[in-house]
Amino acid sequence: GLCLSRDFDFFYFVQQWPGAYCNTKQGCCYPKTGKPTADFGIHGLWPNYKDGSWPSNCDPDSVFDKCQITELMSSMNKKWPTLSCPGSNGVRFWSYEWEKHGTCAESELDQREYFETALNLKEKINLLQILKDADIEPDDGFYSLDRISKAIKKGTGFTPGIECNKDSAHNIQLYQVYMCVDTSGTNLIECPILPRTQCGSDIQFPKF
Ligand code: 5GP
Ligand code: 5GP
Ligand code: 5GP
Repeated sequence: GLCLSRDFDFFYFVQQWPGAYCNTKQGCCYPKTGKPTADFGIHGLWPNYKDGSWPSNCDPDSVFDKCQITELMSSMNKKWPTLSCPGSNGVRFWSYEWEKHGTCAESELDQREYFETALNLKEKINLLQILKDADIEPDDGFYSLDRISKAIKKGTGFTPGIECNKDSAHNIQLYQVYMCVDTSGTNLIECPILPRTQCGSDIQFPKF
């Protein structure tokens, strides 16, 4: 139509470190496909506004349909495993992410494209390798937040948002990494706004 409305301004592509999800007080459950490999997993691809707010659950009529991602299923299990309890086959996590976040990007990506886009981003941004290249490894050691952030900037060209959580002994640790992506889902961009983080200056990178 003639009305140009902006559904969202950019995506956060969010990856989670399974070691930090699982060693919390709440713990985790492995998916039916078994213990995921020790790598960052996709949490989601989240449409966002430049002011830091975001839309959610934008289209109640667009339910998750796993038949649309049949060909992606083996990649999904590897790159987007679910770790919440009770352990499931991923479909619950993916359908939750589609309905909460994906439906807000339908002007850009249909369901299959949405998941494909996230998988492609995961392929392109190899956080574990990038960190390893900077001698930052999941060895239960503490690293400066600044060093982690700079390593990711060096490896991707862009400044990440880093989210921390606490393990069961209350150590602050690396939990999620946010990278910003343009509305097409293909190009990384500098974040218009970084998510608020609760990390200290030194954070643990736990084993998984
Ligand atoms: P938490 O409260 O654990 O940070 O976030 C809970 C949920 O809120 C996330 O899983 C995500 O669905 C949503 N959320 C949190 N922060 C953001 C954000 O900056 N952008 C978007 N789009 N969603 C967010
Ligand atoms: P969010 O609202 O943060 O986008 O999504 C989190 C929701 O997905 C929670 O309801 C959580 O129980 C579910 N979930 C399922 N598997 C996972 C997982 O591996 N990591 C996270 N963070 N949430 C998961
Ligand atoms: P949701 O209700 O969105 O599943 O989850 C609310 C919060 O609790 C999110 O920050 C999510 O990551 C966390 N959460 C939900 N289920 C689990 C779980 O099984 N293990 C852990 N460690 N966190 C969970």
